[in-house]
Amino acid sequence: MTDIKIDWHQRAKTLKIDGRAFINGKRVNAVGGQTFECFSPIDSRKLTDVTSCQAADIDLAVLAARTAFNDRCWAGLSPRERKQTMIRFADLILENKEELALLETLDMGKPITASLNGDVNSAANTLRWFGEAIDKVYDEIAPTADNTLAMITREPIGVVGAIVPWNYPILMACWKIAPALVTGNSVVLKPSEKSPLTALRLGDLALEAGIPAGVLNVVPGFGAEAGTPLAMHMDVDCIAFTGSTGVGKKIQIMAGQSNLKRAWCELGGKSPNIVFADCKDLDKAATASAGSVFYNQGESCNAPSRLLVERSIKDEFVKKLLSHLPEYHPGDPLDADTTMGALVDCGQMQNVLKYISSGKAQGAKLLAGGEQTRSETGGFYVSPTVFDHVTNDMTIASEEIFGPVLSIITFDTEEEAIRIANDTEYGLAAAVWTQDISRAHMVARRLRAGTVHVNSYDEDDITVPFGGYKQSGNGRDKSLHALEKYTELKTTWIKLT
Ligand code: NAD
Repeated sequence: MTDIKIDWHQRAKTLKIDGRAFINGKRVNAVGGQTFECFSPIDSRKLTDVTSCQAADIDLAVLAARTAFNDRCWAGLSPRERKQTMIRFADLILENKEELALLETLDMGKPITASLNGDVNSAANTLRWFGEAIDKVYDEIAPTADNTLAMITREPIGVVGAIVPWNYPILMACWKIAPALVTGNSVVLKPSEKSPLTALRLGDLALEAGIPAGVLNVVPGFGAEAGTPLAMHMDVDCIAFTGSTGVGKKIQIMAGQSNLKRAWCELGGKSPNIVFADCKDLDKAATASAGSVFYNQGESCNAPSRLLVERSIKDEFVKKLLSHLPEYHPGDPLDADTTMGALVDCGQMQNVLKYISSGKAQGAKLLAGGEQTRSETGGFYVSPTVFDHVTNDMTIASEEIFGPVLSIITFDTEEEAIRIANDTEYGLAAAVWTQDISRAHMVARRLRAGTVHVNSYDEDDITVPFGGYKQSGNGRDKSLHALEKYTELKTTWIKLT
C-alpha cells in the first residue's frame, strides 16, 4: 500500500529531472541541440526541456547499439549472467520506486497510487520475470538421420528499435526491452514525446545494473523526427511498436520500404464486454465493468469500452454500474486517494470531448459525465462518461476514444451479442459474464480477440501473452512467446560420418 505519509507535492518541488537522451551509456543533448518542452497534464506546469532526437541522433544510437552487439559484450554473456544483471536492474527500479512513480504521474497524469503500486511494480516484475526465465529456455535437436546432427537454436536478432506510447510509459517500455535484452539484443528505445521521463531513467538504471554502454539507448523525440528514422533505419533488425493502429500501418510500410526488418505491432482496441442475463453476480460484473473502463482515465488499449447487456437485465445492471461512478471522480493525481487523474494533454482531452459531442449528435443518451472538470487547476480532466442507447455503427462505438467514455449496447440473443462484439476492426480483448459453462466456452471461442475474460475483466499476469487479432496488431508481448519476436531461428547441420 502507498505510504500515506509521503507529501508528493513537496517531493515534486525538489525532484531533479534530466531530460537529455541516453546514448552509448551517457546523457547527451541532440547533435543539433533541439529540445522540446515537457509539461505536466496535472496543471500545465513545465517540468523540463527534453532532448528532441533527430535522424542524426538516431544514427548515433543505432551505431552504439550495433557496436555493442558486434562486441558481444552483452550478447556473448551466458543466459545466467544476463539473468543476474536483469534481476539487479529490477531491484534498482524498486529501490528508485518513489522517484519513478512521481515522474510517471507528473508526466502522464495518472494517480500516484496507480503509478507506485501498479506501473512501477509491474515494470520491475517484467524485467525480473524475463531475467529469471532466460536460463530455463532450451533449444532443440531435430529428429534427423543417424549420420547427422541438426540443431535448431535461437539467436538474438541484433539491434531492436522499440517505439512505445504514453499511456503506460514505463511498463510498455519494459514489455519491449525485457524480452529483447534477455535474449542478447541491443535496443534503441523511443518513448512517446508525451511521457518520456521514466524511460530516460531506465537508461541510467540499466547502466548502473551492469548492462554495458550501448546495449540500451533511449531517444526521446517526436514520431516523424525520431520514430520514422528509427523505423526506416537500414541497420535496425526489428522494430517493436506499441501505439495506434494508424501509426502501426505506417511502421509496417516503413519496414518494407527499408530493410524488411521484422515489424511487430501492438495496436488499439474497442473491446466488448458481454453481460448475459444468467450472469451469477451482477454486482461483481458492474464493479469490474466500471473499474476496467475507467482505470487509467480510460487510456488503456484493452479498456472494455463497449458494454453489451442483455435487454432483460439492462436497467438493473446499468443502475448498479452508475452507482460506481463517484468512485472515479477525477481528483488531484498527487493525492494518494485519487482513483482517476488527468488525461495526458489538452489535445487528448479535446479528442475525448469531440467524441462525446459526436455521441450526443448521433442520438446516444448521455447518462453521466460528458464534461471537463477541474479546469481551475489548468490540467486536463474529464468526468467518467456513460452513454446508453448506443448502436454499434455510431462513432463512439466504432472508434477508439482512449478516454473515460463507456458505450452501452443492448442485445436480445447470444448470436446477436457475438455478432456485435466481433463487428469491429479491432480484436484486442473481450469479456463474457455468464454462469452457463457451455455458453462461456462457446462464446469465448467465437470472439475474435487476443484475450477473452470469463466472469472477470481485470485478470493480468506476466505469464500470459498480450496482443491482438485483426487491426489490434500482430505478435505478442509478455510470456515466453514474446521471446519469439526478438530471436532468429538457426538450423545448424553437422555431418557425423
Ligand atoms: P501513437 O501511435 O500516436 O504513438 C505511439 C508511438 O509512435 C509514439 O512514441 C510516437 O511518437 C510514435 N510515432 C508516431 N508517429 C510516428 C511515425 N510516423 N513514425 C514512427 N513513430 C511514430 O499512439 P499513442 O497515442 O502514443 O498511444 C495510444 C495508442 O496506443 C492507442 O491506440 C492504444 O490502444 C495503443 N496501445 C496499445 C497497446 C497494446 O498492447 N496493444 C498498449 C498500449 C497502447
